[in-house]
Amino acid sequence: MELVNLKDASDAVTFAEAVKKGLGKHQGLYFPKKIKPMDNIDELLALPLVERSIKVLSHLTENELPAETLESIVKTAFYFEAPLVQVKENVFNLELFHGPTLAFKDFGGRFMAQVLSKITDGAPITILTATSGDTGAAVAHAFHGIENINVVILYPKGKISQLQEKLFTTIGGNIHTVAIDADFDACQQLVKTAFDDPDVRDGLHLNSANSINISRLLAQVCYYFEAMSQVPAEKRKDVVFSVPSGNFGNLTAGMIAKTLGLPIKRFVAATNLNDTVPRYLKTGEWAPNKTVATISNAMDVSQPNNWPRIEALIEQGYLPKEILQGDAIDEEYTQVAMKQLAALGYVSEPHAAVAYRSLMKDLQDDEVGIFLGTAHPAKFRETVENVLGQPISLPQALADAVAKEAFSADLPNDYEALKAHMISLLQDKQ
Ligand SMILES: *Cc1c(COP(=O)(O)O)cnc(C)c1O
Repeated sequence: MELVNLKDASDAVTFAEAVKKGLGKHQGLYFPKKIKPMDNIDELLALPLVERSIKVLSHLTENELPAETLESIVKTAFYFEAPLVQVKENVFNLELFHGPTLAFKDFGGRFMAQVLSKITDGAPITILTATSGDTGAAVAHAFHGIENINVVILYPKGKISQLQEKLFTTIGGNIHTVAIDADFDACQQLVKTAFDDPDVRDGLHLNSANSINISRLLAQVCYYFEAMSQVPAEKRKDVVFSVPSGNFGNLTAGMIAKTLGLPIKRFVAATNLNDTVPRYLKTGEWAPNKTVATISNAMDVSQPNNWPRIEALIEQGYLPKEILQGDAIDEEYTQVAMKQLAALGYVSEPHAAVAYRSLMKDLQDDEVGIFLGTAHPAKFRETVENVLGQPISLPQALADAVAKEAFSADLPNDYEALKAHMISLLQDKQ
């Protein structure tokens, strides 16, 4: 597979190189040089998730990985389901939260971990990442127990929910977690500093595993096919996807699925009050505001880092820009949507509710609407209980994690302290 840096066309890499590097020169995103449509969509849709995903991913990666390797990666990564659940006539939720950390980030995180473990030739590497919640859990579970990969996760002490914290600080083994006495931006800054420090970057063979990694996006393409496979054949040309968006990786994956030939009619890019993209789609002006905190906090992003990939899909002529509509939902209507869904007998959480609300504004009678369920409602238990006034029970994975002891180190917001900690933890493993 050939990928090209969107900021510098002379920076071209293979899939394996793009996965290892993450970002290219000048912080540019890697994007496939050419996306060829698949021509056997109906046959693909008749296959089970794992078998179909192997075909989609080997097509996208142009058979770069040996067939047996890719097969074993996909089997290990995608062991859970993505059911399409009806909430009312012609409206469905694609539940992407049946993985180990109960959020859709398990798909991309697990695929990336398996790919990295197969392409590093056994040389030890260290994943260093900062999290404000969900990503840390997905990365921690995805890499747990993988030989020769150590993971260090920084998070802002006391600033994430206890449930979220328990999901990644109780694992142990090759997963090392550090509570930093500062906010999330400070944690991200520490990660950047480490990547600029050759002692640590080269000494510990750092990799970031963050959301711009191409492997995560390609993995996510597979669940759009899975959703469509559950729609009756005669309705497949009428499907509208509404995607709750923050960094816009999820939507990028859907648009790549469309480019491959999946017959998606159109997309709704649904955001919360952090509405840079919906405003841009209306006015043509890219004018990010300051990020504001909302109850759909995984989408509190005002400078979405995957947006250049969506622009590339449109500018390179793969898709017309009319296929995408933007819509922003405020805090009040997020709650209204949660209540409307509950009245239909479907308990949901704020992110999916944003997508539901945006979908319903403009869904036509002859269309089938699918909104993406990006997290289990129990992950946002407090908000859901407050809004709906009813108790939410914890699924087993969360209940088990809550009962375990956390293993985090506590550090001040000081790079030298972090460096010393990482070197003492990891240097004997290099
Ligand atoms: C990360 C996340 C999103 C946003 O997804 P993007 O791919 O960044 O647009 C939405 N909902 C939940 C629950 C998330 O964790």
